[in-house]
Amino acid sequence: METCVFCKISAGEIPADVLFQDDEVMAFRDINPLAPVHVLVIPRRYIPALSEVTEAVNPLIVRLVWLANRIAKEQGIVETGYRVVINSGADGRQMVPHLHVHVLGGKQLDDKLG
Ligand code: 5GP
Repeated sequence: METCVFCKISAGEIPADVLFQDDEVMAFRDINPLAPVHVLVIPRRYIPALSEVTEAVNPLIVRLVWLANRIAKEQGIVETGYRVVINSGADGRQMVPHLHVHVLGGKQLDDKLG
């Protein structure tokens, strides 16, 4: 997707503070962090939203969760706790239409999810 900002980050066309990348997945710091640790984990291939995920991409979803946990470990927030969030669609307040996992921690997070 030429216009997708996370595709551009994946392609190296937009700079990002990248913490991990391989040929399938990538993790980089959110440009507008909501917590001391706020990292986005994305698949490199274009999947617009969680709602588009099918069984065919199960291994990729497992890798996203694996990377979210790895980031939490590397950022030192496993003991204190963290939150993993995927927003999907308008009511879910998904702003960037490329599947991404938020990894948040480093402070006590808001108790409101809705
Ligand atoms: P969403 O609301 O779609 O779940 O979250 C999108 C996230 O992407 C937001 O937290 C926003 O700050 C972040 N974001 C949007 N554009 C960029 C960008 O160009 N670079 C980085 N690093 N984060 C971005």
